[in-house]
Amino acid sequence: MHGRFEKRGDVGIIWIDNPPVNAISVGVRTAIIEGVKQLGQDPEIKVGVLACEGRTFMAGADITEFGKPPLSPSLHDAINAVESSAKPIVAAIHGTAFGGGLEVALACHYRVAIAGAKVGLPEVKLGILPGAGGTQRLPRLIGVEAALGIIVSGDPVPAAQAAKAGVIDNIIEGDLLTGAVAYAKALAGEKAPLRKVRDLSVDAGKLPAGFFDEARKRIAKEKKNLFAPQRIVDALEAAATLPFDKGMARERELFMQCAQNSQSKALQHVFFAERKAANVPNLDKSVTKRDIQSVGIIGAGTMGGGIAMNFLNVGIPVTLLEMTQEALDRGVGVIRKNYENTASKGKLTLQQVEQRMGLLKPTLSYPDLSQADLIIEAVFETMAIKKDVFGKLDKTAKKGAILASNTSYLSIDEIAASTSRPSDVVGMHFFSPANVMRLLEIVRGAKTAQDVLMTVVDVAKRINKVGVVCGNRDGFIGNRMLGGYSYQASLMVLEGAMPEQVDAALRNFGMPMGVLQMGDLAGLDVGYKSRKDRDPSTFDGRVTRSADLLVEMGRMGQKTQAGYYDYAPGDRTPRPSPVVAGIIEKVSQELGITRRRFTDEEIVERCFLALMNVGCDVLSEGVAYRSSDIDVVYLYGYGFPAYRGGPMFWAEHEVGLKTALEKLKKYSAETGGKWLKVSPLLEQLVAQGKGFASIGQ
Ligand code: NAD
Repeated sequence: MHGRFEKRGDVGIIWIDNPPVNAISVGVRTAIIEGVKQLGQDPEIKVGVLACEGRTFMAGADITEFGKPPLSPSLHDAINAVESSAKPIVAAIHGTAFGGGLEVALACHYRVAIAGAKVGLPEVKLGILPGAGGTQRLPRLIGVEAALGIIVSGDPVPAAQAAKAGVIDNIIEGDLLTGAVAYAKALAGEKAPLRKVRDLSVDAGKLPAGFFDEARKRIAKEKKNLFAPQRIVDALEAAATLPFDKGMARERELFMQCAQNSQSKALQHVFFAERKAANVPNLDKSVTKRDIQSVGIIGAGTMGGGIAMNFLNVGIPVTLLEMTQEALDRGVGVIRKNYENTASKGKLTLQQVEQRMGLLKPTLSYPDLSQADLIIEAVFETMAIKKDVFGKLDKTAKKGAILASNTSYLSIDEIAASTSRPSDVVGMHFFSPANVMRLLEIVRGAKTAQDVLMTVVDVAKRINKVGVVCGNRDGFIGNRMLGGYSYQASLMVLEGAMPEQVDAALRNFGMPMGVLQMGDLAGLDVGYKSRKDRDPSTFDGRVTRSADLLVEMGRMGQKTQAGYYDYAPGDRTPRPSPVVAGIIEKVSQELGITRRRFTDEEIVERCFLALMNVGCDVLSEGVAYRSSDIDVVYLYGYGFPAYRGGPMFWAEHEVGLKTALEKLKKYSAETGGKWLKVSPLLEQLVAQGKGFASIGQ
């Protein structure tokens, strides 16, 4: 049993104790039921308090029980026991009361919390809905509209806000238990009613006419393609229109629909994939991390500025170095403007803007980086320049400083070789916009020291990024795979689909933007320049011909208001361009390609199966440790829809590896095979009837 009962005068305290987060295990559920029994049996006790040991209230279900046969007593049993208690029970909340934790608290007759506590029903993030009465009790307690907001967002609600909404009855200043016991005694003293949330009425009459239909439409836009949020609206409609027990039955039905939907499996995969990514194989856990108190950044362009903001946001001082005063002023100006924009939306105070800017030290001089614990280079993507910068860093950086490069494609080992301390060198590959995208690829060079890697994994967490460690090979994980993906998109453009059809199919699949649109955002000149530096036999010049012609006409993408699309000034909306259509048709004709019609299904399949195919190579080469790391890269670096689990999960669970292989073989044969080679790993897995889980660590 994970808990105990304590008698303190006329108050009975039901203690829950299941470190580290008081997950609602079978032991916790038993402790709740036993506690309520003892509370009822002792005639001297008038009132109960439900409190948790350790750092938090019950933070949610016990994930180790997921996917196993249900253990008795159930959460419903525990919740019913609490709500049916003949003596009032006060939930005493600290830390987080999430999911089942909040559902238990909602079954209590009163709730108090310390100011730093948070409550929430995050189930939607796992593709399900609160299945232990949350959708029926919360609207009874705080109204349908407020409950809908909390359950559909799944976001944590700070105690003060929860108190304002009516979830929390009282905020306790000082010691929680002392305050909760005093509150409980006062309730007993004034013979306060046994307030059962299930018996409160939902005032549906106050809702505007057509409220639920409107909510469905709004949420369909905000939570595009998602299954669970719509079922949450259904559940709240049940709360508003049905008696409690019937509403509970409806909640159960809707919960099961969500649980059986592929989206919940995908979202649960994402939840575990993100946690697994932090677990780096072959890392000696006894190694001590280096202390990172200050950061240097070289280059204040698109990436350098965004990277700096990540550190300033969490109070880590940054010294930002540029080549010229003009570039430095421009870079610092962009950072300030970004913060001021955030402040104008009310998400930062002006004082916070100044605080963050106050941590930023612009400089043109390398000696100013001599005390930095971590230095991240984000200069132009040219090996000679990177080597020059690292050579200078070798002379200036203090002993033990970590030297990182944000390179997109270049070899970390070659960069490291330009220093006398290659073991201090590592890749920190941020994604654009670097202050927004949550992914950080951490590139492990051949000589990168264990403590350097461990420190950078920790730094990623400190700046709220999801770090994925990968091997040092051209394009690492994400950009290497992007090659296979964008190749298919460009090829289909030549074969008959216009950019707007390709991109629309990808967006409908769930991507935030199509891959050609993404090219316009990044700048078509970037690829153009890199192709000029590359051996022409390493890429298919036919497929890049349209893009080359666009760049040569000055159509570089959004920055010139023209690329694959036209753009109006100050507007990022891509508009199909007749000029581009003409160029594409001309190139197809010159290459002797007969243009044909494409279905959206073929577009999606070719793009993402090719993406996954490169993922298989990345996996078999050990560049990624596990397929779920590849999923994490695409989810957090490229906006792959989480409800599809990532490209590898999608291929395995939505398409099926056998079908994926057959289709890839067909597409490979149809397109000549040279640029789409089916990965031997995929062939091997299908032949052995195995899945991605059998590969990696
Ligand atoms: P950018 O051109 O916007 O910025 C580069 C900055 O570096 C410029 O301000 C330039 O003045 C400065 N600089 C150049 N040489 C310098 C030197 N020797 N010393 C000091 N400053 C110098 O480029 P960016 O898009 O920020 O890319 C920077 C790096 O990040 C590249 O390696 C790129 O591959 C990588 N990257 C870019 C993206 C992206 O989407 N833009 C994404 C991930 C990684």
